[in-house]
Amino acid sequence: VIVALLHRLKKIPRAVHRWREMMKPQVVFVLGGPGAGKGTQCARIVANYSYTHLSAGDLLREERSRKGSEFGQLIDTYIKEGKIVPVEITINLLKKAMEETMKADEKKFRFLIDGFPRNQDNLQGWNTVMDGKADVKFVLFFDCSNEVCIDRCLERGKSSGRTDDNRESLEKRIQTYLQSTRPIIEQYEKQGKVCTIDASRSVDEVWLV
Ligand code: ADP
Ligand code: AMP
Repeated sequence: VIVALLHRLKKIPRAVHRWREMMKPQVVFVLGGPGAGKGTQCARIVANYSYTHLSAGDLLREERSRKGSEFGQLIDTYIKEGKIVPVEITINLLKKAMEETMKADEKKFRFLIDGFPRNQDNLQGWNTVMDGKADVKFVLFFDCSNEVCIDRCLERGKSSGRTDDNRESLEKRIQTYLQSTRPIIEQYEKQGKVCTIDASRSVDEVWLV
């Protein structure tokens, strides 16, 4: 009995370790140009698989409109200018959202993190704050031309009420994407961690490829 108990005791930490590993947030980064269709396809993934969608842009917009937020004005300016908000703000919003999701339901440990990491600063912030705390499985890259991105955002702008779905902001957002985000995708590509999707096709076609 003692031997069996000792054996079990020896096994428990391993089981706990395995359980913890399993419960560690499993992350898929979702990247692509503005309007490439990231949010649209993430919604479908969520409807079909046990993933939680966290959009960095949505979290920032939420924080911008939160009463008493000390970052509201700053976020507002950055979004209109298509610039990348300082990582300290974004990473804390993401971390909090992941923690709250897992606290509410421990089975919800799979995340689609959309619009992050958008630049080197984002990536460094992630590596510093989340090192060992989450597993990045791969990057889902929605690939389509700048023209398609702009057209879709202008179309979305007719009803989105977004302050950055206009031609002026879009030119800047595309520049930010090309200069800052593409190099991040290339870095992950070198690690063999990118799954590229032809995002220029219809919503159904993109879903089915
Ligand atoms: P993102 O999250 O990448 O900014 P969205 O998912 O919000 O992009 O899509 C931008 C706009 O384009 C939305 O109005 C959406 O309805 C539309 N859209 C998304 N995917 C497609 C597609 N494959 N073909 C045509 N329009 C699309
Ligand atoms: P999106 O909703 O992904 O199109 O993002 C809209 C805007 O939010 C961007 O143009 C940025 O100004 C800001 N933003 C979104 N994601 C990030 C991020 N990861 N880091 C900093 N700023 C971001």
